[in-house]
Amino acid sequence: KTFTKEEIKQIVVDENVEFIRVTFTDVLGAIKNVEVPTSQLDKVLDNNLMFDGSSIEGFVRINESDMYLYPDLSTFMIFPWATDGHGGKVARLIADIYTADREPFAGDPRHALRSVLADAREAGFTAFNVGTEPEFFLFKLDEKGNPTTELNDKGGYFDLAPLDMGENVRREIVLTLEKMGFEIEAAHHEVAEGQHEVDFKYASALEAADNIQTFKLVVKTIARKNGYYATFMPKPVAGINGSGMHTNMSLFTKDGNAFVDTSDEMGLSKTAYNFLGGILEHATAFTALANPTVNSYKRLTPGFEAPVYVAWSASNRSPMVRVPASRGNSTRLELRSVDPTANPYTALAAILASGLDGIKRELEPLASVDKNIYLMDEVEREKAGITDLPDTLLAAVRELAADDVVRSAIGEHIADKFIEAKKIEYTSYRQFVSEWETDSYLENY
Ligand code: ADP
Ligand code: MG
Ligand code: MG
Ligand code: MG
Ligand code: MG
Repeated sequence: KTFTKEEIKQIVVDENVEFIRVTFTDVLGAIKNVEVPTSQLDKVLDNNLMFDGSSIEGFVRINESDMYLYPDLSTFMIFPWATDGHGGKVARLIADIYTADREPFAGDPRHALRSVLADAREAGFTAFNVGTEPEFFLFKLDEKGNPTTELNDKGGYFDLAPLDMGENVRREIVLTLEKMGFEIEAAHHEVAEGQHEVDFKYASALEAADNIQTFKLVVKTIARKNGYYATFMPKPVAGINGSGMHTNMSLFTKDGNAFVDTSDEMGLSKTAYNFLGGILEHATAFTALANPTVNSYKRLTPGFEAPVYVAWSASNRSPMVRVPASRGNSTRLELRSVDPTANPYTALAAILASGLDGIKRELEPLASVDKNIYLMDEVEREKAGITDLPDTLLAAVRELAADDVVRSAIGEHIADKFIEAKKIEYTSYRQFVSEWETDSYLENY
């Protein structure tokens, strides 16, 4: 649904909205916002709200710091939770970022995704549909209200209360999201203790990326209200499953789902196979964007249902890409490596550009792997053409730097800032000496 300026002004009056929060996402995936009282609504709606871009990580140099926020009117919504102390409500708008010269800003992740979506349209596709399955942990807060890593329950996959102590929080998350217009398909306890998943209906990529950012905000807000801390950190506790964000994807044309071909033995079209070929081709390069933290690589290890190798399968959940059994309009590819620390705009831009490159070059995927890859040895894997995903953030960043398709998908501005920031992050991590190291080496050497 989209709104006109006049409709938004009317809703703001009718619903007693006191503040307008204009949000955007920085290069590293953090949600930023500028909040103004509704007296400033005209300025916001007329694309005249400014902010200082030089104060945002990975944005601009000081001398080009004035930026405009252009709200996307279709993203208007009122936060359904009460604000402290007064009755007025808070509404939000997601914005695109423009320079002082009123050009789209090259460092805006939403702009990067828009650009690749324009390429997809040029290739004849009307939509890149994306449905994600974000997972998160609920942890207890301590007496001071700070997060701990103490698990709040002993539940497992699809368990019920009383083992699933997060059930009430999860229900409130679902109800809140529904009030905000999300169509929730499922919500359940995940495999690990204290771990949850909420699935909402797929949407066209830009809206899907916006939804992911909104989703994280809602989960964190509702968890807090209930005395818990929600985290999307990929591997908060060693030895149990980490949190992923499986990403289901399909391309549509005006005739419907372009991944469908009922005459194929798997029901997949040439477009789907070539898209998959592109995903496999560029997987090592887009991993830095899909898994952008040091901690991401602690999830991508064998034994915890997360992928480690570049491969695909129809029947098996160990490879990086799975073809879920649903057919018809639900025909899709599921990319299982992505985790919720990914900036959804740049990650989807990179993934889509990879798939489009596969379509353009008619890349054929390797044969599917229908046995458990973790049980294959290195020689068997090599014979099957299965390669490894990067195993550290630094290795992933190097792969990204070397891939022109993925780098140009996010644009040189974002690529440079991102690579620079991630190298610093990795160095900072390397300078830290962990308990594992002192346990392993202190007495042995
Ligand atoms: P899983 O079986 O992997 O647990 P889920 O049922 O949890 O899968 O999630 C499936 C996701 O795929 C949902 O977000 C759903 O809306 C989405 N989806 C369904 N059809 C399509 C499609 N054609 N394109 C993209 N996403 C889709
Ligand atoms: Mg699921
Ligand atoms: Mg699942
Ligand atoms: Mg899951
Ligand atoms: Mg899944």
